[in-house]
Amino acid sequence: MRKTWLLFLALCAACAAPDLSTLPRDERFFASLHHSLRAAFLAEALPTCPAYQGLRELCEQAPLRLAGSPGAERAVEWGRGAFERAGLANVRLEPCTVPRWERGEVEELTVVEPAEHAGERIPILALGGSVPTPAEGLEADVLAVTSFEELQARAAEAAGRIVLFARPMDRAQLDPFEAYGGAVSQRSNGAVEAAQAGGVAALVRSMTLAQDDEPHTGALRYQEGVPPVPAAAVSTNGAERIGAWLSAGKRVRLRLALACRTLADVPSANVVGEIPGRERPGEVVLLGAHLDAWDVGQGAHDDGAGCAHLVGAARMLVRHFRQADIQPRRTIRFVLFMNEENGLRGALAYRDAHLAELPQHVLAIESDRGGFMPLGWAADATGASLTALRQLLGGPETTRGGGADISVLAEHGVPLVGLYPNPQRYFDFHHSRKDVPAAVDARELEHGSAWLAALAYLAAMQEDPLPRSEPRPRRR
Ligand SMILES: [Zn+2]
Repeated sequence: MRKTWLLFLALCAACAAPDLSTLPRDERFFASLHHSLRAAFLAEALPTCPAYQGLRELCEQAPLRLAGSPGAERAVEWGRGAFERAGLANVRLEPCTVPRWERGEVEELTVVEPAEHAGERIPILALGGSVPTPAEGLEADVLAVTSFEELQARAAEAAGRIVLFARPMDRAQLDPFEAYGGAVSQRSNGAVEAAQAGGVAALVRSMTLAQDDEPHTGALRYQEGVPPVPAAAVSTNGAERIGAWLSAGKRVRLRLALACRTLADVPSANVVGEIPGRERPGEVVLLGAHLDAWDVGQGAHDDGAGCAHLVGAARMLVRHFRQADIQPRRTIRFVLFMNEENGLRGALAYRDAHLAELPQHVLAIESDRGGFMPLGWAADATGASLTALRQLLGGPETTRGGGADISVLAEHGVPLVGLYPNPQRYFDFHHSRKDVPAAVDARELEHGSAWLAALAYLAAMQEDPLPRSEPRPRRR
């Protein structure tokens, strides 16, 4: 048995680690290592739940932290302090430039017809990046469609109308991320599709499986050459009401008023800290999450949980290395990225600033799927790299993307992994006012930290680095 694993057994002697010397170095071997490491880390963390304390601090100090806002800068300061208190070395801010979009005070969708409901309000949130309506609002009849194909087929009816993209997330899907993937193009591209069909505004049914009055925001994209039209997310109940009126043959006419605006780009930063490597300090195992969050709720699951996971994992690893009086073989680098939600500028700035080091990034791990109990991993790699990665993960994995921030490293051949927590409730909270710390369970959050710490530990300690992946296109 190799020295690394002997070292590991010494670290875990106090927590009844299994005798691993008889196991071949296959998935079972790594699964046992994960299990023992997590147990050791959790034994220290669960009594006080430091990751959850970190989440509460972040959400108290910077509840609203969309990139470019004063809250985002407070979040950067929180991240720097949290990394320093966790005992990381080389804690620093790495600059990036981010867009600045503000929601504004006016955000209203009012029924004009059916006459019996005139004056009633339907809950909305402007989509991030939306242009405003005229100050007096914009009044038009509504055309509801469930696909871009349907909109194109009915383009003659769309002219001058507000287009409602009403396709729900598919409730038959086992994994809500699949359902999200099947519906989210309405939010990202709906404004462009509506404008191309002659529509004057876009409404989109909120990306959630919950049936309630909470709208869920998110980013939209405009396209050069297509006039930008205002766009907002409607609560699922609101979308159902509009659909029911239209199905009953009623004329639906609404007034939309949005006062959002885009200002000049502003300077911001990623927060970086490290546990320096001993033998191969130039080889990097990256752990990432994103600091920014939408400007409603407090971004507790998205992605306060990921930031808290990193702070918790940093404490676990620093403490273990100190107690054993060793350093990891490779450098473990923690990165809190800025501007994942509406630009990915932090991730791109990281990639550009570290271009020369990327061939030495042996693995990048991201937590951006919420703070629920971990169930497995999402692996993004190819060939021998994927085979070796599957062994190292020691547990169930899907081949979905690792995460948006680390996705920019795919083109450079870095193997990517995302933590995969239980996804069933995530979209109840995602990008909405309901995403607050009370929606996150402290115990489940600490488990996530332990999972990340164990994987980073193994990737940083094993003798041979993971094989490089093929350079491949970026995906989430
Ligand atoms: Zn996120």
